[in-house]
Amino acid sequence: MIKHHPDVNLLVDYVSGNLSPAKAACISAHNSYCGICRKTTFQLETLGAELFKDLEAPPVPTSTFDSVLARLENSPPRQSKQVESKDESFPLVLKKLMSKEFEDLEWRKVTSALSVSQLHTGDLSHECALYQIAAGGKIPEHDHKGAEMTVVISGGFSDRQGVYHKGDFIFREKDQIHAPTALESEDCICLAVSDAPLRFTDWKYRWMNPFLRFSAG
Ligand SMILES: [Zn+2]
Repeated sequence: MIKHHPDVNLLVDYVSGNLSPAKAACISAHNSYCGICRKTTFQLETLGAELFKDLEAPPVPTSTFDSVLARLENSPPRQSKQVESKDESFPLVLKKLMSKEFEDLEWRKVTSALSVSQLHTGDLSHECALYQIAAGGKIPEHDHKGAEMTVVISGGFSDRQGVYHKGDFIFREKDQIHAPTALESEDCICLAVSDAPLRFTDWKYRWMNPFLRFSAG
């Protein structure tokens, strides 16, 4: 049962195309698990389409139409790199973002409990990555200098604000300190999008801060 959802304003931004690619991927991943937000998204899209219908179409020169047609005819068919996953509920957007099978992804160890696998969305302002927290493991207390969106893909974690399971969507504002701890039962995999690097606030780990990478794009 999903308990944590994106704010409706975020869904409005998602539907109207106002979110950056990495943030939109997070909403899309959550929606693949959440019937409630899928329904709201559909209603917002319907509403948007109704509003568009009443707008007067601006005139388009014939030359523009011809050049669009020419580009369509000349563009090569897109190569799909969609990855097959054994898990039916695995978000389609993640399959598209991963260049290989989940089992074959490369993971960078950040601490003994945390590994990170970068995803590439083409979003130059946000880092998009999969975080793997070992069962029962804790990410040292940190903040982000920027906002962070997280969607739980498998397992679950808890922090001071709550307990989160598969499909839950978590939004943390800039400077909100937290220390997620994976549930004991299994490793936790999360999709995380941020616009600034992790910054450990726990004094034992602060020395690592200058070495923490931020890989947008
Ligand atoms: Zn939802």
